[in-house]
Amino acid sequence: MSLTYTTAPDTLTHWIDGRAVAATGDRSAEVFDPALGRVARRVGLASAADVDAAVASAARAQADWGAQAPQKRARVLFRMKALVEQHTDDLARLITREHGKTFPDAQGEVQRGLEVIEFACGIPQLLKGQYSDNVGGGIANWAQRHPLGVTAGITPFNFPFMVPMWMAPMAIACGNSFILKPSERDPSPSLLTAELFREAGLPDGVFNVLQGDREAVEGLLAHPEVQAVSFVGSTLIARHIYETAAKHGKRAQALGGAKNHMVVMPDADLDQAADALIGAAYGSAGERCMAISVAVAVGPIADALVDKVRSRAAKLSIADGEAPGADMGPVVTAEAKTRIEGYIAAGVEAGATLVMDGRGHVVAGREEGFFLGATLFDHVTPGMKIYDEEIFGPVLCVVRVGTFAEAVDLINAHPFANGVACYTRDGRSAQAFANAIRVGMVGINVPIPVPMAWHSFGGWKQSLFGDHHAYGEEGVRFYTRYKSVMQRWPDSGSKGPEFVMPVNA
Ligand code: NAD
Repeated sequence: MSLTYTTAPDTLTHWIDGRAVAATGDRSAEVFDPALGRVARRVGLASAADVDAAVASAARAQADWGAQAPQKRARVLFRMKALVEQHTDDLARLITREHGKTFPDAQGEVQRGLEVIEFACGIPQLLKGQYSDNVGGGIANWAQRHPLGVTAGITPFNFPFMVPMWMAPMAIACGNSFILKPSERDPSPSLLTAELFREAGLPDGVFNVLQGDREAVEGLLAHPEVQAVSFVGSTLIARHIYETAAKHGKRAQALGGAKNHMVVMPDADLDQAADALIGAAYGSAGERCMAISVAVAVGPIADALVDKVRSRAAKLSIADGEAPGADMGPVVTAEAKTRIEGYIAAGVEAGATLVMDGRGHVVAGREEGFFLGATLFDHVTPGMKIYDEEIFGPVLCVVRVGTFAEAVDLINAHPFANGVACYTRDGRSAQAFANAIRVGMVGINVPIPVPMAWHSFGGWKQSLFGDHHAYGEEGVRFYTRYKSVMQRWPDSGSKGPEFVMPVNA
């Protein structure tokens, strides 16, 4: 099998109706290699005509696809699973070159996306309805789940393979067609994904890629044929997507930003907690929606914890993501680097203690790359911009509190509520934390508690707009319409019309 997109071409196109299609307008965007700090290629941006072409293809394809038996759809996903396994390193390399994360981390991203494909392979079982025999008068009542039709997914730069896989395998397994609008910052993995779906035997038009920016998104939101929109990205845009989709009568799930806290209790194993903090705060240069960006030190352990984090952070290997042994790569763009540096300046201005300053970090041989060193702030308090807002970079803030109750109140008062962790050796504290905390995903001695593919992913409050979390059984519900059927086969003629509410007396 020879594939075109295992290496990225100079100009990236859409993927519509099973083939590469150039953008029709004259708009395009630069795609950077963040470690080199150079433009690597360009991506064409969709016009309204391109949106129409993608939706028309998806609508044509969906009718047959949705009518297929679920096990036939599953067989395509079984083949996709094998192909993704075979091409994990190709996908990971594309991710590392455009996103900047380390190659092993990119391999991990592919693995977590693959797990949703594996889950979606069980779609015949997942779509099995509930059945009640003889609810009265010989009537049976059962539930069916129907595909919605054309669905769309709009995804962020930080997981260019995994987040599209939170959506597409579920949507497709349920009998929908799917249009992916990937981030314009790292669009290459989307084309290899499309090619792999084609190799897996997915009919043309069931999975399409529409490269683009706001114009593509607005086009999809307004298009009458698009039935549902899944979004993952920053909170302001998530809210806009949710509201606009609702205005156009569409189903929407819009996952937004985060400010994830990790509580370290006085009885915690501090070395274990410090190791967890280092990986969760600085892994992927802090550009994870589940990154820990606030450590909440409870009681007398704060000085010791800050020391342990500082000494570990000083040893991080910051390098090109493909360099052996790299712990952290660059951030995604020069703008992201400038924005993060602005937050560090704001933290200093607000009076937080800058324990480690990542500004001005230069990597030998990669002098133009968008690198930052690990940054650590102590004595951070609510009301400081570095605490209140999502920074989305390698910046860890330490907040000191006196008690467990203060830690819980602090976190529950924050508008973001994606993930949270608590490090403790005490089962009672752990249980109280899991119950009291108003956050969607909780880790007890687990720093980044991303749910497995057969559970579901999502935050609360400003971190998710909508009723359904992503993937797992929530994904099946989001991508299907519920129907209840009542059936009777009377053995004699009609009893005449009935005007009273039917009851099973
Ligand atoms: P972003 O919001 O800038 O972009 C996300 C998507 O929206 C992209 O496809 C982009 O092209 C599109 N977009 C950008 N501006 C738009 C506009 N004005 N109108 C319509 N569409 C627009 O996010 P990003 O910088 O790519 O990703 C980082 C953000 O994503 C962070 O806030 C992070 O927390 C969040 N995120 C959240 C989750 C989660 O599960 N909650 C997961 C990953 C990332």
